[in-house]
Amino acid sequence: MQIQFYGGAQTVTGSQVLISVNGKKILFECGLFQGRRQESYEKNLNFSFDPAEIDAVILSHAHIDHSGNLPNLIKRGYKGSIYATPATIDLCKIMLRDSAYLQEKDLEWVNRIHRRNHQKELEPLYTMRDVEETIEHFVGISFDKAFTIAPGVETVFRDAGHILGSASIHLEINEKGKLYKLGMTGDIGRPSMPLTKDPNVLRELDLLIMESTYGNRFHESTENVEEQLSAMISETAASGGKIIIPSFAVGRTQVLVYILHKLFDQNRIPDMPIFVDSPLAVHATNVFRSHLDYMDRETERIYISNHEDPFGFQRLSYVEDVEHSKKLNSLAYPHIIISGSGMAEGGRILHHLRNNIHNPKNLVLFVGYAAKDTLARKIMNGDRVVKIFGEEHTVKSKIKIMDSFSAHADRRDLLDYVSLNSPQRLKHIFLIHGDSDQALPLKDGLRSKGYQNVHYPAPEEVFTYEHM
Ligand SMILES: [Zn+2]
Repeated sequence: MQIQFYGGAQTVTGSQVLISVNGKKILFECGLFQGRRQESYEKNLNFSFDPAEIDAVILSHAHIDHSGNLPNLIKRGYKGSIYATPATIDLCKIMLRDSAYLQEKDLEWVNRIHRRNHQKELEPLYTMRDVEETIEHFVGISFDKAFTIAPGVETVFRDAGHILGSASIHLEINEKGKLYKLGMTGDIGRPSMPLTKDPNVLRELDLLIMESTYGNRFHESTENVEEQLSAMISETAASGGKIIIPSFAVGRTQVLVYILHKLFDQNRIPDMPIFVDSPLAVHATNVFRSHLDYMDRETERIYISNHEDPFGFQRLSYVEDVEHSKKLNSLAYPHIIISGSGMAEGGRILHHLRNNIHNPKNLVLFVGYAAKDTLARKIMNGDRVVKIFGEEHTVKSKIKIMDSFSAHADRRDLLDYVSLNSPQRLKHIFLIHGDSDQALPLKDGLRSKGYQNVHYPAPEEVFTYEHM
């Protein structure tokens, strides 16, 4: 068997791992590189392998850094199936369509400059048509059901507990009469998170390809998240302020809505209107509603078994219409607005920030990761003056950051995960999907626990394995 690390290698985006076994080529993930516009565009445009030569694709979950380059793979000649869980497929439908829209919009701006400089205009990475064709290639596979993806390669999806439908993949490989097991974690979730089940750990492995996003970080515990949230909201409402929450539309927004629903039912937040102002979040929530069987035990006990919608209650409204969204500006009484994008780089949240960030009574609450140089990051860093729609605004509202919503395993979770596999059997661990400040300390941590061969593969590095 050969493993080649094309993407997510020594970085956190563009996940792509190619496995060659028994004469077949299996691609694990086909993520989008994200970062500086021009540089990512070039990286995403050209694959370092021929898509037409791939025999099968396995996708762990719908996040764009894992799935976002699939339409380009199809456009460039991939003809086979894309295996994923049914919930991942439903989420991919809305996320890839959204991504195609963003790709085309992004280029408008670049091409305006190209035209001015009499340079050739760039083609979008892919279009809506490519996305629709990609959707035709998906094949749904439920958790815990074995299927043969290539001769001698039995595959099982296990619940990774990261977002709706997220899977870790277990491959049992029979090569030249020898049997061994390879695990690929995809992104790993955290135990005790709302909505998602706890990660189902891959065991009895000979080789493991593992994510390492937070290999050197400890998250705030999820234990007090409800108390903290209810205190912040009650305080702000009592002083007559509004609460603005920039949030990713898929995953984070549904967790927030679920917790607010619980707090509302238990009278732990004041009786006030709550708006989810994002068309993408509306579509994503409908996907969650159609896969209630994936929810954790608490959601099942409190809501599903009572035939109640975990994502809907009397004080909550979903806003799809632009006119309705604009009307939210004129509301004079306390309310909560959850809107995207999470990093405040675009979308309706920009209007809400512009209208509310100058009032010391209001609270802007950040519940997710924000990359360097994004508006969310600047406000989180305490910048007093920020630019929104090209105009300067002074930040006077209260700013709070909650780290406990992270959907990624932290250092402790990752070490615990591996520890369920014995160092005698687990011969090779490959750390991917992590920057060096996170992955290298994790590598040291694993070595000190007796795992001898922990690799941090460079882009395009090849590893050959022969089972003894
Ligand atoms: Zn993810």
